[in-house]
Amino acid sequence: NAANATNHALIHDPSTYLIEKEPYYVPVGNEITLFEAAYANHLPLLLKGPTGCGKTRFMEYMAWRLRRPMITVSCHDDLTTSDLVGRYLVKNGETVWVDGPLTRAVRSGGICYLDEIVEARKDTMVVIHPLADDRRIMPIEKLGQLLEAPDSFCLAISYNPGYQSVLKELKQSTRQRFVAIEFDYPKPALEREIIMHETGLAPAVTDKLLKLAEMTRNLKDNGLEEGASTRLLVHAGKLISKGVEPRAACQGAIALALTDDSDMIAAINELIGALF
Ligand code: ADP
Repeated sequence: NAANATNHALIHDPSTYLIEKEPYYVPVGNEITLFEAAYANHLPLLLKGPTGCGKTRFMEYMAWRLRRPMITVSCHDDLTTSDLVGRYLVKNGETVWVDGPLTRAVRSGGICYLDEIVEARKDTMVVIHPLADDRRIMPIEKLGQLLEAPDSFCLAISYNPGYQSVLKELKQSTRQRFVAIEFDYPKPALEREIIMHETGLAPAVTDKLLKLAEMTRNLKDNGLEEGASTRLLVHAGKLISKGVEPRAACQGAIALALTDDSDMIAAINELIGALF
């Protein structure tokens, strides 16, 4: 009863994913113009950059700006094609088809954001490729359907090129389908503005957090896989503005979050102690 099952697939209301309120986003370069031009040309997007530098916030902002529903999938090493496309489930003794997030985004002409795409299993690329080139189609094998993506559909993926591992590299056949936008931690003046807005911290403490961020970022590849991201600074700032003592806040939100290496944690704590 495939026909019956497909009816069940359409129960999702795309407006659920609409972002009503303008997300706070500070542009850091020409990313808005690039995104809009790519979107108008039905080109998929690849957001490159370290974790916690604003890629997800940017996507939320663009979804709001373009008034499109957005579905975000955090990819992990168990993520299969069926997780993205959909599967048959047994509900009340009846077999029903349930669309996966990618299918829902295609059907509703929305934005699908696949966060940290290289984490997903390699076979998921099978569904992404035909959607990411000019065919813009999505085969749903189990339903015997071939969905054509409407013009308003947009596929965006994120990727952190900083991880030094061949297993975590994006293949040429995948990457060459996308328009890439490069992200990095915002420049100090912008990052300062962002942290103050997100945490309500005073300028003096914010500047100390920025200094600490710079120091940890210099330790990248010198004992740290990544420096403190904007996200971690925001976390520390939020703890401080709730009354947590700054050293404790930085230790919890930054030092321990960055690494498990006890020497490294001690070194970062020393930096924290010197600043606060
Ligand atoms: P990513 O998706 O790159 O891992 P996020 O988008 O989740 O990172 O960013 C982490 C946090 O940093 C956000 O929740 C937000 O508080 C802040 N942030 C980073 N960049 C910006 C920006 N340009 N404008 C506003 N907030 C930002």
